[in-house]
Amino acid sequence: MSGMAAIQFLKNFFTGLLTAADADEQQKFFAEIRHLSIFMQWVGIAGYVGGYWLMPADNHFNATHGIWVMSGIAAGLGISIFCRTLPMLNVGSVMLILSVTSGFRGLADSVSNPAFWVLPMGAIIGMTMAPLFSSSSLYLLVSTGIWVIFGYGNFPLNPQIPGEHWPELIIGSAVVMGLSLNICFRQLRQRNHRVRRDLERLAFQDALTGMHNRRSFTERAQQMQQRKDTPSLYFLMIDIDNFKKINDAFGHDFGDQVLKKTADIIHQHAGHHLSGRLGGEEFGMVFEGDSDAVCAFAAALVRAVHGNFYPQHAVSISVGIAELISNADLAYSYKRADASLYRAKSEGKNRYVLA
Ligand code: GH3
Ligand code: MG
Ligand code: MG
Repeated sequence: MSGMAAIQFLKNFFTGLLTAADADEQQKFFAEIRHLSIFMQWVGIAGYVGGYWLMPADNHFNATHGIWVMSGIAAGLGISIFCRTLPMLNVGSVMLILSVTSGFRGLADSVSNPAFWVLPMGAIIGMTMAPLFSSSSLYLLVSTGIWVIFGYGNFPLNPQIPGEHWPELIIGSAVVMGLSLNICFRQLRQRNHRVRRDLERLAFQDALTGMHNRRSFTERAQQMQQRKDTPSLYFLMIDIDNFKKINDAFGHDFGDQVLKKTADIIHQHAGHHLSGRLGGEEFGMVFEGDSDAVCAFAAALVRAVHGNFYPQHAVSISVGIAELISNADLAYSYKRADASLYRAKSEGKNRYVLA
């Protein structure tokens, strides 16, 4: 590992201790980790019950402690199964992990050679739970809890041989390895989550204007059309007039500026109504309201675009409007709005026409 890579690793390691995922990432992480967490909890419970069955017949099992452990396990598992958020899943997991650890400690105390259990069980529990936590500080805290529960009163393991330090070495290595695993898993998940978010943005957002692209706009328009509770919906097809001439006269970069500015005006005016770029110098909108409202809206939009560029540049839009009929194909309304747009163009542009 080169010096730079080592520094980067250490930087990631320490930021990993502190940073918590944002709310969106937390919810994604919750959905991903919940089933694994509950599965591992069942494995822990099976291990504890199996450990009890495998104990020699002359053990001194403390039944009261066993009941406390089973109550903790039941509460932890219940919270994990019924919770809906990551912090609550963490509460459930921590309860269960510490209860199972305490259970194993109880088993260890009731046999003649407790030291035999302490190191392997602590290392196994500490490392297998590493992928379950989205915060390394929480992982460290639980890890410390595990070693305290296992180790309290059990160290040194071999009082007859002073100066033996291998338990410290094993505990230290187990904690560092568990922490590294925890950070690696979290970084992988975060990278995966961010790549997916970027891909979604690329797939559904228009790169130039930041509006919904055609695919995203169409999907949303279809969803709105299928909703039963909406009032009347109108589809607006908006096209910049003489855009080719603007490009030819002032250059493609200026054309892009006009597109962005027009997109901003449409987006601002649209407010909560759906808007998007259908391609080239064409935009789409779905307006919720009656025919008077949509006509008033379209007239204001046409005026706003023209007024924004006037008198330096003669930029205007034409708008074709058609009602979005809920049981017809979306393409049918597209076609009718397009026919209205054609009429607006042939009647002189810088205006709207309602089908
Ligand atoms: P009309 O008033 O009838 O709508 O005429 P028009 O010139 O606006 O329409 P036409 O379809 O003839 O030309 C559209 C032009 O838009 C042609 C194309 O080069 C340009 N265009 C399409 N996409 C972009 C873009 O992303 N940036 C720029 N600058 N120009 C674009
Ligand atoms: Mg045009
Ligand atoms: Mg066009």
